[in-house]
Amino acid sequence: MSFSRFALIPEVLRAVRERGYDEATPVQADSIPEIIAGRDLMATAQTGSGKTAAFVLPIIDRLHRQRANRLSAIILAPTRELAAQIGREFELLARHTLLSAAVVIGGESMERQLHKLRKGAQVLIGCPGRLIDHIERGTVRLDQIQIAVIDEADRLLDMGFLPQLRVIMQKLPHRRQTLMFSATMASAVQRIAREFLTDPARVEGSVEEISAPPDTIRQVVCPVTTENKGRMLRQILLRPEVTSAIVFTRTRVRADRVGKLLTQGGVKAIVIHGERTQGQRNAALAGFRAGKFRVLVATDVAARGLDIPDVSHVINYDLPDAAENYVHRIGRTARMGKSGQALSLATPEERALLGQIERALKIRLEQESVEGFEPLAIVPPKPVKLFSSARMRARPSRMRSHAY
Ligand code: AMP
Repeated sequence: MSFSRFALIPEVLRAVRERGYDEATPVQADSIPEIIAGRDLMATAQTGSGKTAAFVLPIIDRLHRQRANRLSAIILAPTRELAAQIGREFELLARHTLLSAAVVIGGESMERQLHKLRKGAQVLIGCPGRLIDHIERGTVRLDQIQIAVIDEADRLLDMGFLPQLRVIMQKLPHRRQTLMFSATMASAVQRIAREFLTDPARVEGSVEEISAPPDTIRQVVCPVTTENKGRMLRQILLRPEVTSAIVFTRTRVRADRVGKLLTQGGVKAIVIHGERTQGQRNAALAGFRAGKFRVLVATDVAARGLDIPDVSHVINYDLPDAAENYVHRIGRTARMGKSGQALSLATPEERALLGQIERALKIRLEQESVEGFEPLAIVPPKPVKLFSSARMRARPSRMRSHAY
């Protein structure tokens, strides 16, 4: 569906065109009209579905029409990387308006963030922890918020942010529009949907049938704590059978960080991600193929569409957000009748993602401890019934799960 079908202001449509978006993705086609109509929304959408623009576009549209001059929308995200990514998308799509967003995340100077807030941002994007710091210091006022977005609600809950989320939601005006996005509909997500949303429209991505990976790939999950991930990766790469490996991370920042960590540890590694040009990516691949590098660190986006050679190991440094990405990733090994190994480093915070992959593939992945690390087990959440509440008005959905 073309974006011109939505009643969006020309400033927004122009930015969409310049961003290179020709057609709305299914989650955008289903969500944007509901958001414009002012309804609360509960959407199941994964990273890669275009969910960010699905909520950013109607927010820009509304605030520009209102000539909003104070903080009017808040977007909550579980990680700094995601908050920063939403901030970038907002900036690009709001470039023909006077609206601005303040991104409030830990690990960055509070002063800089305050400066942006004082300059009068209309949109606040952030992780619950740092936001609460600002609320407690009285540096943000939430009493004029009209729209609240809870992005990746399942991960926010997995990461234990529910208490902070409640504190923030209680500070918002009662009369507001609330939009919630989540990759899964775990029972905890349904509970907070009932707590925070009023008569939401529902947009549901139906999970595509995913073909199981070939059994020539040995798939193993290595449970690990977040702080031990880097050390565990290096330990695995010391194994003599790891002749060449692709290490997948969730974001560009993490890909760079892992690349640096490996290089500093004496591992010949090269990084590809979406901010590198096609030429740089191809050069990196040529080096990897020629054996100049033993390890290729990549994000899903960068790896898409590239002819990556056969490797002995695929290592998921972070679990992918979508089960189909898991299958794409691990399919880089065990090509042409050979066998290969896929190792997924998974933290307890990633248990929902692990559950999602296991459910989609209808398998239970074997968990194995790595030499030198305390054994740890990850118990994925049990499959749950989908919404049954009468308040959740289900609509027939055209949506399929899509990756862009
Ligand atoms: P998201 O699911 O929001 O993380 O978006 C995934 C990727 O899809 C991002 O790189 C977006 O820039 C891109 N994207 C979002 N909407 C569209 C669209 N309508 N057409 C093409 N790409 C899009």
